[in-house]
Amino acid sequence: MKQVLVFDAGGRHLKRISTHLKKHYSVYGFSSIEDVRAHLENSTPDIVILCMSQDLNQKHLKIFKDLSPVIGVVGKEMQGTVKKAFSAGITDFLIAPCSPFELKLSIESALKSKSRIEKLQKEKERLQAINETTFLVSSTLDLQEMLYTIVRKIAEIVPVVRCSMIRIDKEENTADVVATSENPKIKNIKLDLDKYPEIKEAILTKHAIVVNDIKTDPIMMDVRDIISPLGIRSIIVLPIFYRDTAIGTLFLRTSRSSRSFSQDEIRFCSTVTNACANAIYNAFLYERLEYEKTSLGKLAITDFLTGLYNVRYFYHRIEEEFTRALRYKFPLTCLMLDIDFFKRINDTYSHRVGDQVLKEFAQVLKKNVRSGDLLARYGGEEFIILLPNTAKTGSITASEKLRLCIKDHKFKSLRGKEAITVSVGVASFPNERINTSDDLITCADTALLEAKTKGRNQVVFYT
Ligand code: GH3
Ligand code: MG
Ligand code: MG
Repeated sequence: MKQVLVFDAGGRHLKRISTHLKKHYSVYGFSSIEDVRAHLENSTPDIVILCMSQDLNQKHLKIFKDLSPVIGVVGKEMQGTVKKAFSAGITDFLIAPCSPFELKLSIESALKSKSRIEKLQKEKERLQAINETTFLVSSTLDLQEMLYTIVRKIAEIVPVVRCSMIRIDKEENTADVVATSENPKIKNIKLDLDKYPEIKEAILTKHAIVVNDIKTDPIMMDVRDIISPLGIRSIIVLPIFYRDTAIGTLFLRTSRSSRSFSQDEIRFCSTVTNACANAIYNAFLYERLEYEKTSLGKLAITDFLTGLYNVRYFYHRIEEEFTRALRYKFPLTCLMLDIDFFKRINDTYSHRVGDQVLKEFAQVLKKNVRSGDLLARYGGEEFIILLPNTAKTGSITASEKLRLCIKDHKFKSLRGKEAITVSVGVASFPNERINTSDDLITCADTALLEAKTKGRNQVVFYT
């Protein structure tokens, strides 16, 4: 029921007016301005009826200044004061004595205008919010920041317990909270979809799901007991679409405890998400391309078995490094390594164990080269290492270190029963025979061959 405050400083009309109005409104009648003041401390009336008598002064009018609407009831002898009262803030007036019917009509019309103005005010706030959100969202490609901006803005305008963006993977049948209004840092929290039947329903129907009261909505039947203690009353789930097809992965779930959502609020959430769908879609695309670029890129340069760089990438890099070495007169060294008698390992333990040994061998090398060195699998049981800015002395030390590490390593794949050794050929630029990166590799290979013929398990430097 709407609350009407009636003030009559003289007190003569108070009873009559209040009696009429009590049938339709909750009425608070006062003849003392102090009582009005006390009342206004805890309560805001929807409308004020002000009886304008000789006893009403400027000080009285001031109290009602911020309240709206205020209807003045003016006695015939007081009509001269109407202008003054308007400037003090009354919104309408009636000439006394007025009939109860007239009074009610006037109140209803004033209340209607008030609610219209409030509605417009809210509409304006929402439009501003939509405007602001789409602007913020379109000015970033950072997906996390974008999603947080959206949920935060919605939570600002529609008072809710929480507003979250949820990403659904239909194939995996999983859901993750990717942003939530409570905390900008929260991302990728797994949800058990069985506990969120409203989200499941939204996925299934591709429609907005509005649960006005979780206690009575049949959708929530199975989870009512879990949600009820959380003090949540209403939930909206909105699928986010991009050009007719659901981005498929995004849902907005908003919940609140006090009352159910109004149509305007639902429309607002949906407008914000629709307005942002384009930007979200772009950000997703961008994120995926970036991901694919790095993962495809990685695939293309990695050796499948050992995870080291492959020979293709090695050729590409040695070319670059060689050019740099030529230009700046830096030394550059290439190590070619070949496992001794590897065929026997395959023959004795199986090809599968041979693979394991190769993997382990690669890890030992990886652990024992410097971060700036380029280690790759050259093919089969051969590996190649490029040591930028390294000349003969340094490279022999590095090669000897690697040879010993391998010799002393207890291979888990061989249960430590058998030692593996390696032969290493080393060539360094500058050298009069080395004019290209290919020359550098060939010379290292020649040195390796020499290491093999000299009895294996040793390092030979190309001269
Ligand atoms: P050495 O180099 O000391 O002369 O003897 P070796 O036995 O290591 O040399 P050889 O070139 O005769 O044999 C290389 C062996 O490496 C033969 C081949 O089956 C094995 N091999 C090459 N690539 C792989 C692989 O990816 N996995 C496994 N398990 N074996 C491989
Ligand atoms: Mg070989
Ligand atoms: Mg070999």
